[in-house]
Amino acid sequence: MSFDTLGLAPVLLAALNKAGFSEPTPVQTAAIPKALEGHDLIVSAQTGSGKTAAFMLPSLHRIAGMPGNKGVGVQVLVLTPTRELALQVAEATKSYGAGINDLRIATVVGGMPYGAQIKALSRRVDVLVATPGRLIDHLNARRVNLSRVHTLVLDEADRMLDMGFIDDIESIVAQTPGDRQTLMFSATFEGTVARMAAEMLNNPQRIDI
Ligand code: AMP
Repeated sequence: MSFDTLGLAPVLLAALNKAGFSEPTPVQTAAIPKALEGHDLIVSAQTGSGKTAAFMLPSLHRIAGMPGNKGVGVQVLVLTPTRELALQVAEATKSYGAGINDLRIATVVGGMPYGAQIKALSRRVDVLVATPGRLIDHLNARRVNLSRVHTLVLDEADRMLDMGFIDDIESIVAQTPGDRQTLMFSATFEGTVARMAAEMLNNPQRIDI
């Protein structure tokens, strides 16, 4: 199995080649074609499974396919439970998106100074990686607009709920378009996670790895 058969834009295949990824992991093989078809996804996958590329490659594929759309506002929003995970996701995005002309990635996380984040948000942002609490602060101050988000990723959704982010997540999601694509990743899909999925996802396909 190679990445070539999954339907990704050549610019992404080149970046994967450069990163030394020769074949997709199981979660990537299962999730990428379904995400490219436009489905909402519920994916149970652990850290280390390659889940970041599983959601970021199809997200970047949409940006790569619409070069004229850059500058309309945040197109891809990734919510993560922790600062560390957000920074890792942003790093990975930089590497996978290295061939996309002038791709702008911003990271907005708690526990870091506001200044650099405010500056980043005052410029064009294509991909925003955020922890929910700090994103709410910026939204309340009207520093960021989510009305053009086409892909929403909820990474480690169970951990975000454990950390008490449900209200923040609900208000954030309410500010994104109803016809967005939503990709939800979680180690478990019980209780509140399942309820959140039912509320926020549209006819999702389920992938268990
Ligand atoms: P993740 O589960 O997204 O945190 O990824 C775990 C690690 O696997 C990261 O260091 C990635 O760079 C790496 N990785 C992801 N996909 C692949 C792949 N298809 N081939 C080789 N390494 C990969």
